[in-house]
Amino acid sequence: MKVAVFSTKVYDRKFLSTVNSPTQHELVFFEPRLNRDTAILAAGFPAVCVFVHDQVDAPTLKLLASRGTRLVVLRCAGFNNVDLQAAADLGVTVVRVPAYSPYGVAEHAVGLILSLNRKIHRAYNRVREGNFSLDGLLGFNLHERTVGIVGTGKIGLILGQIMKGFGCHILAYDVYRNPELEALGGKYVELPELFANSDIISLHCPLTPETHHLINAEAIEKIKSGVMLINTSRGALIDTQAVIEGLKSGKIGYLGVDVYEQESELFFEDLSGEIIQDDIFQRLTTFPNVLITGHQAFFTAEALHNIAETTFANIADVENGRPCANEIRAQPSA
Ligand code: NAD
Repeated sequence: MKVAVFSTKVYDRKFLSTVNSPTQHELVFFEPRLNRDTAILAAGFPAVCVFVHDQVDAPTLKLLASRGTRLVVLRCAGFNNVDLQAAADLGVTVVRVPAYSPYGVAEHAVGLILSLNRKIHRAYNRVREGNFSLDGLLGFNLHERTVGIVGTGKIGLILGQIMKGFGCHILAYDVYRNPELEALGGKYVELPELFANSDIISLHCPLTPETHHLINAEAIEKIKSGVMLINTSRGALIDTQAVIEGLKSGKIGYLGVDVYEQESELFFEDLSGEIIQDDIFQRLTTFPNVLITGHQAFFTAEALHNIAETTFANIADVENGRPCANEIRAQPSA
C-alpha cells in the first residue's frame, strides 16, 4: 500500500525501511507533522502513518478523506490526538500499536524515580565541576516505601513488578482490576486513599476526558506531603500550574515527567538555539527536584522495531480485508 509517513525522524526512517523491505509497502517519508495545513501532502495516498503529535482532528480527516485516504495508521499506543467519531463518519479506519515498549516505559519511570531520589542528575554535574560535596544529595531507601500506580495495564503492571523487586508496597487505582497486579500483592484502593498513602505516585492511565488534569489542585491537597510524582503517560493528566504551586509549597517533593501538556510545541525538536516562549515549562526547569525528559520513555531499539512490525501487520490486515485486532473505534455514546 502507498503510505504517507508523517513526523519522521532519521530513526523512524531507519526502522520502518528495514522492517518494510520484505513487505514492500510504498513508503513516502514526510518530516512535517500531519495537520490541516499539511494534509495536502497525503493527496492520493490510501494510508497515512502518524505519531503522537500529529493532529488527526475532524478538519484534517475531512481533507484526507476527500483526497482518497481511507486508513490512519498510528505508530503509537495513545490515540487522544485522533477524532475517532469523525474518522468513523468519514469511513476512515484507524489502527494503532497498542504495545511496543511496556518494559521500556516502565524502566524509564524507574529511571526517573531513582534519579530524583538519589539526585543523580545533580551529582553528574557536580562531579564534573570538581564538587564532591554531598550536601543536598540525601535520598531515601525505596525498600518498604509505598508506590501508588494509577492505571494498571501493561506498563503499570510492569512498574509494579519492578518496584516489588525493590521491596516496595504497591497501591493501585484503575477502572478495571488487573489480577496479575493483585497476585503481586498490589492492593486496589480508591484514588483519595492512594493519594494519601503513597510516597511515590506514578501515572499509567490513558488521557481521556475522565483523566484530564487528574492531578489538579484538589488532588494535590489530598496527597502525602513530599510525594514523588511521576508521569510517563500523557502531559495533560497533570495540571502543570497546580503542580508548580505544589512544588513551591513543598507538598510535592519531587516531579519526574517524560510528557508535558504543551509538549507538541517543544518535544522531538532541537530548540537549543531558540528562546523558549513557554513560561510554565521554563519555570518547571528551575526546580532542582524536577526531572524532565522529552517523551523518550518509549525510545528503545526494541520499541522502534516492534512499532514497525505491528504497523506493517496492521496495514496488511486492512489491505487484505482481514479483521485487525488493533483497530480502534469511537465508543458508542451512552
Ligand atoms: P494499557 O491500555 O495497557 O493500560 C492503561 C490502563 O489505564 C488500563 O488498565 C485502563 O483500565 C486504565 N484506565 C483507563 N481509564 C482510567 C481511569 N480513568 N483511571 C484509572 N485508570 C484508567 O496502556 P499502557 O500500554 O500501559 O500505556 C499507558 C499509557 O502510557 C498510554 O495511554 C500512553 O498514554 C502512555 N505511553 C507513554 C509512552 C512514552 O513514551 N512516554 C509510551 C507508550 C505509552
